[in-house]
Amino acid sequence: MSSLALSPAWRPHAERNLPRYTSYPTAVAFGAGVGEAEARAWLATTRADQTISAYVHVPFCKRLCWYCGCHTSVVHEYDRVRTFFRTLMLEVDLWADAIGPHAGAAHLHFGGGSPNALAPEDFLALVRRMADRFALRPGAEVAAELDPGMLSEAFIDAAGEAGVTRASLGVQTFDPDVQARVNRIQSFDLVAAASERLRKVGVGAINFDLMYGLPGQTPENVRASTEAAVTLRPDRVAVFGYAHVPWMKKHQVMIHEADLADGDGRWAQAEAADSALRAAGYLRIGLDHYALPGDPLALAAAAGRLRRNFQGYTDDPAPVLLPVGPSSIGRFAEGFVQNAAATDVWSRAIEAGRLPTARGLPVAAGDDLRAAVIERLMCDLTVDVEAVCRSQGFDPAALDEAVAAAAALEADGLCRVEGRRVTIPEEAHRLMRVVAACFDAGLPAAGGRHARAV
Ligand code: SF4
Repeated sequence: MSSLALSPAWRPHAERNLPRYTSYPTAVAFGAGVGEAEARAWLATTRADQTISAYVHVPFCKRLCWYCGCHTSVVHEYDRVRTFFRTLMLEVDLWADAIGPHAGAAHLHFGGGSPNALAPEDFLALVRRMADRFALRPGAEVAAELDPGMLSEAFIDAAGEAGVTRASLGVQTFDPDVQARVNRIQSFDLVAAASERLRKVGVGAINFDLMYGLPGQTPENVRASTEAAVTLRPDRVAVFGYAHVPWMKKHQVMIHEADLADGDGRWAQAEAADSALRAAGYLRIGLDHYALPGDPLALAAAAGRLRRNFQGYTDDPAPVLLPVGPSSIGRFAEGFVQNAAATDVWSRAIEAGRLPTARGLPVAAGDDLRAAVIERLMCDLTVDVEAVCRSQGFDPAALDEAVAAAAALEADGLCRVEGRRVTIPEEAHRLMRVVAACFDAGLPAAGGRHARAV
């Protein structure tokens, strides 16, 4: 069990700026040396027996929430979105033509921005095009992040018709004062009605995203919002800390630093959400996800099959991730690729028949080794470093320096090190990024560009 207060020994760790390790190396290490030629060469190594996944980024919203850290912009005219949609359809064809034989798509994920910025008929056409061109497998997951404040009944019906299996609703908070301070007004009834209709049209699984650390949030109102959320029985809940980076996200200047809780307050808010979720029967998964016991994510965690990717935690084992849409990141065995973030640059490439890859990173064997250790720590809270080294053909002592760095955290209770096994106790789970960072060879250069650990 974790305690409500942040201990003085943990405070400096909680205040460190660290990656979320949704990948390793992290996206800040990507460079312009990777382009279309690399993407095509890496795609060509996909094997006929490998499943694929695809992530689609829709960089539009109908409103701008002040806390937003996503790559998006507000559009009022649908003409611009329709032009974008047509280019997206062309991009699907480009990737499908480039990839060659594979075992079909196991997972399609639509994020943003808000995929429901697309018109219902355009979203339906996009899912159908992807299902056809990427050979969607029976039982595949089709997941969409949706903004409930702008979610029409027609869009929900289209999601049902498209075969969406999981919808993630951005809830964040139900507190009206906090909602007003972050420019995201949406009532409990609205979220309840959206959840009910999604289930009615066959979208069988619902996720909620909640937040702590927003202006005006307190442990009490975070608890109240969490308790209200679980009355709707979402299958999964993710609880994210607000990252205040107004030098990177200009609209965050609308949030005054003086209105934000300090480290102790953020910790207490995260604890309030955690205890409310566990009291309601949810299992904690990794750093910040929760799931009902029968949910596939909970089953994957129990079986040691949990994975971490750009969408957070997943049970998707596909080794190939295709990026679709501006700024989307893809993953192949040989490395990462990222599409051009600027919509005009992205669309010009596609209209010229080119894959819109703008940057990326080849992954060396040593990176894969560190990535595997970090992923197990972030998913299982324990890793046998020696076993991972051996399984990847490395000397068992290859990461001893990193294991020693983890051992230095033992005195503060962040982990235990027995031989080459590193284990994070449950009560320190919120600081797992600090332990994972011991295995990050690129951290000194990139540390300042990440959000605080808690
Ligand atoms: S709806 Fe989501 S993506 Fe759009 S501005 Fe709000 S938080 Fe950002």
